[in-house]
This record gives sequence, structure tokens and C-alpha cells, in this order.
Amino acid sequence: MIIDVRSIVLKEKESLKNKVKELNRKGVNPKLAVILANNEESSRIYVSKKRKLCEELGVLEEEYELDETTTTQDVMQIIQKLNADENIHGILVQLPIFKHLDEEKILNSIEPEKDVDGFHPVNLGKLLIGQKAIVSCTPKGIMKIIDSLGETIEGKRAVVVGRSRIVGKPISCLLLNRGATVTVCHSKTKDLKEHTKEADILVVATGKPHLITADMVKKGAIVIDVGINRTKDGIVGDVDTKAVEKIAKYVTPVPGGVGLTTVLSLLENVVEIASHSLDIEDE
Ligand code: NAD
Repeated sequence: MIIDVRSIVLKEKESLKNKVKELNRKGVNPKLAVILANNEESSRIYVSKKRKLCEELGVLEEEYELDETTTTQDVMQIIQKLNADENIHGILVQLPIFKHLDEEKILNSIEPEKDVDGFHPVNLGKLLIGQKAIVSCTPKGIMKIIDSLGETIEGKRAVVVGRSRIVGKPISCLLLNRGATVTVCHSKTKDLKEHTKEADILVVATGKPHLITADMVKKGAIVIDVGINRTKDGIVGDVDTKAVEKIAKYVTPVPGGVGLTTVLSLLENVVEIASHSLDIEDE
């Protein structure tokens, strides 16, 4: 069965809208700052999607569009200003950034409490040791999809294909923290199928179109396809959905799958941080 991610997102949007209104009533206006430091059309599209969702949910948003003359120091100065601004709850640097900029330095200069993308080492470290952390948006969205199915995670065999900092590693930690037995596969893994065949929950984030075929999937598995690949046939995922659908119990579609929950999770993070500012005032 193809998971209806759109309706999961629709429900979540409503609840988030109400949370924003509640915060507004208490005098808190959740606000996101976005820094765009590249010339790529796809990044502009991602930023405009985020802007639209902010508008829809009543979250304030401001953008800093920087050109090729920008230095790492310039970006860090903007971040420092945003770190100190109590009206800003979340700071996001749209990746990738211009090649001459020091990505690590820039991302690490974001105050961990405003790191809505959850990429800061402090948040990744907290996640690793199972402490409350700002969780990066794609893994957070994946957990939301799995939870919406009403299936338990504890005791399940989970296989994650891909070990990136933004998807593979954090989702592996989240599944592990919820009691799954987790195997992480990657480009150097020998006999991928041997592992994926064992998975009750299979998460695939490789950027390889249709890497996962039906013969690699266990009957009744939950398959989460994170991949977004632009091919001559349009956008496809890392999973051969049509064939896998016949074997798996659930599979996410591409497009209209994990990507939808990713943007929503970003806004959820902003709202959670803004709610936290209220807790501090109450103390
Ligand atoms: P990445 O390039 O940083 O990492 C890819 C990972 O896949 C690596 O760990 C690599 O070892 C592994 N890999 C590559 N080929 C493999 C193979 N043949 N067998 C096993 N493992 C293999 O990518 P990423 O940033 O994690 O993104 C992965 C995909 O997910 C991309 O298509 C990206 O566009 C997509 N993505 C989607 C969302 C979303 O919101 N839906 C968010 C982030 C990334």
C-alpha cells in the first residue's frame, strides 16, 4: 500500500496552525530566518516552499539572499546577529552554499538552540546519546510517517541504506533510540540485498534511482523512500515503488512522500523552539 503522506501532512498542518495561534495569543510570534548563499534554482525553489508554508501556518519568516562576493565572515556575522535576536527562533542556512564558503564553520556558528535543521554537532551529539535534541527535518518527518501507521518500532529489524549526516545517521539513531535493531548500509556494503531482505523497516536515502527492487524487500515490510532523483522520466525515488508495493505492507511515494514531511518538520522545529521561549519566561 502506498502511504498517503499528503493526508498525514494535512492533519499535522492543522495542529501546527493551532499551536501558532496559541503562541500568538501568549505574545510569542514564531519566526524563522533563512540564509540563501548560492545561485542554484533548486535552492530558490526549496526556500520558496518554506516561505509558503510559513505564510500558511502564520510563522514569520525573513530571508538573507547573499551573492558570490560574500565571505564566510559575512555569513557568520549575520548568524551572530540572528543568534542574539530574541525575536528569531530558528536559523536555517539553505544548503548547498557557495563553494568558497566554509560550510562547517558557518553551520557550527548557529546557536544550537536555534538550529532548526538539527545539523549542529551539539544536536547530533544529543541525539546520539538519546537526549532531547532538535532533530533534523527529514529524519523527524520519517518518524512521523512511521508513527502514523500505528506500527510499533520496538523490537523491529530496521535497515537504513545511506549514512549521510542529514538523513542516514540521524534516522539510524532515532530508530535505535526507539528500540529497533538497526543495520546501516552504504556504498561500501557488500551484498546489500542480504541486509535489506531482513528489514521490517527499510529506509533508503542514497540518491540512486530505483536502487531497491522488489527482490530486495521482505514481505510485509515498511519501506520509506527518501530519494529525490531527477531523471528523464521525471522525479523518482531510490525505490522501484511500483514493484515494491506488491511485496511491502507500506511504501512512501516519490514525489509526494518524505519531502512533504521534511518541510513540515522544519516549521514544527521553529514552533517547538518558540514554545520553549515561553517555558523560560514562565520559570
Ligand atoms: P548523500 O549523497 O549525502 O549520501 C548518500 C548515501 O548513500 C551515502 O552514505 C552512500 O554511502 C550511500 N550510497 C550511495 N550509493 C549506494 C549504493 N549503491 N548502495 C548502498 N548505499 C549507497 O545523500 P543524502 O543527502 O543522504 O540524500 C540521499 C537522497 O535523499 C538524495 O536523493 C536526496 O535528494 C534525497 N533527500 C531527500 C530529502 C527529502 O526531504 N525527501 C531530504 C534529504 C535528501
